[in-house]
Parts: sequence; C-alpha cells; structure tokens
Amino acid sequence: MNSPEQTVLTAVQDKGHILLATHFNPDGDAVGSLLGLAEILESLGKRVFRYLEEPVPHLYRFLPGSGQVQTEMAKVREFVAQAPDDFLAVCLDCGDAGRLGRHSAELIGFRPLMVIDHHQGNNGFGDGSWIEPHRSSTAEMVYDLAVDLGADISGRAAECLFAAINTDTGSFRYESTSSHTFAVAGDLVRRGVRPEQVASNLYDNYTLGRLRLMQEVLATLEMHERDRIAVIRVSQKMLERTFTTMEDTELFINLPRAVSSVRVAVFLKEVEPGQVSVSLRAKGKCDVSLIAAQFGGGGHRNASGFRVKGQSVEAVRDTLLPLLRREVQV
Ligand code: 5GP
Ligand code: MN
Repeated sequence: MNSPEQTVLTAVQDKGHILLATHFNPDGDAVGSLLGLAEILESLGKRVFRYLEEPVPHLYRFLPGSGQVQTEMAKVREFVAQAPDDFLAVCLDCGDAGRLGRHSAELIGFRPLMVIDHHQGNNGFGDGSWIEPHRSSTAEMVYDLAVDLGADISGRAAECLFAAINTDTGSFRYESTSSHTFAVAGDLVRRGVRPEQVASNLYDNYTLGRLRLMQEVLATLEMHERDRIAVIRVSQKMLERTFTTMEDTELFINLPRAVSSVRVAVFLKEVEPGQVSVSLRAKGKCDVSLIAAQFGGGGHRNASGFRVKGQSVEAVRDTLLPLLRREVQV
C-alpha cells in the first residue's frame, strides 16, 4: 500500500491543474505553505490557483506570490471547469473541513482532494490525506514533497516555506522543532533565504496602532490559579480606537504565556458582537487541544483554539476557567 505522502505525491504528479486552499484567518504556515507549494508546482509546469477566503493578511504580503492570491468563488469554479479531468484540489494546514471558511462545503466538493496537514485530530477529509501531527509545520511537509517530486525549490518558494516554518515554530522554539526542521531551514537558507530579512518582515514591521492596541489588551490581563492561568481579551471597540484589525493581535498571546508561572494563556477575541474566538497556549505537559475540542475547536497540544457564537466574552471565560483549572494542576 502507498504511504500517505506517496498518495499525495502521485496525485500531484498526475494532474496539471491544481487548486490550493487553506484555512480562514490564515497564519504564516497557512499562507507560506500555500504560496510555497504554488511556486513549486508552477516550476513543474502546472497551472495553479491560489485560493484564500480573504486577501493575504498584511503581515504576509511580503511573501512572493501573495499578489496572485484570488478570493472569488466564481473564479475558482471557472478554474475547476477548465480541465475537469486534469484537476486536483490540495488543502493545506487545515485541521478540519469547516476551517476552510464560509465556502467550505463547496470547496471540499471539488474532487479529487488531497489534504496535507500537521494538526492533531485531523480526521483526513480528503480522497488522500497526509497528516503528521509531530511535524513543526505544514511547510516542512511541503518541502519534503517538493524534494520527492524532484522539484528545484526556487528562492521565492524557499522564502515562503522558511517564513511559514519560522512562524509556526515560534522562531524555532516550540517542541515540534526537530533536527529535520533545522535541516530543512538550513537548505532553504542555502537556496537564498535571508533569515534576518524574513524575521524583519515578520517581526519589525508593525504599525504604531498595533502597539497602542497591545497597551489596551495588556491592560485587560487577569491572573488565576496562583498565576498559572493568564487571560487577556480584545474587543471591537479597542480595534476601532486604535485603527487596527484583528490581524494585529497575532502573537499577543505569547506575552502572558512568557511569564514563568503561567502554564496556560487564554486570549478572548470579540470577532463580532456575540461571537468570541478563543486562542489557548500551554506550556509543558498541559494539553489545551482536548479542551478546545470540547468547544468544537482543535489544534495542537500546546496551541489550540475554538469559536463560540451567542455568548459574551465573560460567559465564555466563566465556562472555560474550571476546565483549565484541572489542566494546570498537572
Ligand atoms: P490560533 O489561536 O492561532 O487561532 O490557533 C492555534 C491553533 O489552533 C492553530 O493550530 C489552529 O489551527 C487551531 N485552531 C484554532 N481555532 C480552531 C478551530 O476553531 N478549530 C480547529 N480545529 N482548530 C483551531
Ligand atoms: Mn501550521
């Protein structure tokens, strides 16, 4: 029997017309692995459609190919219809089909569909699914696929994959960062990536509004369970006051997480009135993926999330805290 990677590899080799998609609110790994794989497939002479629900977040606009991303479903349908027999869809970094966003039902109907991902609990919603939860990032898997396809990874592709690995490993700090992760990153640097430039684009390129927003968000800090649980929050009002968007809150949760006593950090985001998105970050043995799953979300052991509709931020916090209390005792 074929290995999952081999199944994806064969499907990609066989088809010339490939739709790439990832999860909504894409992070660096989502955008970087999508844009990186797009470059790699194009270098093999394939036609590629880069689909995102929304335009590329500002933070990742420096990545090569981000201008070629398309967001219209009508264009996706057109692309699929152009070559039905030569068509393949590939879904990257997306832990479940619903995370494809508001058009998820239609998107997963475009077949055959291959899934490449590293999220715990991904049930493999494609015709072929290559899922390795121990991997640092989807981009690391895309790199392996490129090598096995015999592709020559260009400097442009390398930059996308490197940025993806950098963000998804917390700059090579998380537990999932393996010797293979460093080997891949090393090869990408050999292919022309300048790590200091990528880091500068990712981490030294913010607006003043974001700093002001950070001030407001940090002012909401609550500590619980002998400083083992930290909770911060952001409201739509704060975004309005500081002329920022929810994208600007990326990485805020790492600030409370960095306190030595903290085992779990919680970030409550009012994404719209009556809709709360929750980010959970844990350290060490604490597992927040199971807690996120209880709310219909998911993710990794130390980084997970979920969304709740029809409840206030306070109500979500009050249901969540007792569950976390148990987790931080270990
Ligand atoms: P973040 O807090 O950055 O939004 O998400 C952290 C991790 O949890 C990511 O790996 C992300 O894919 C996962 N995650 C966040 N929200 C959800 C969700 O609603 N469902 C699932 N399955 N995973 C989520
Ligand atoms: Mn990822």
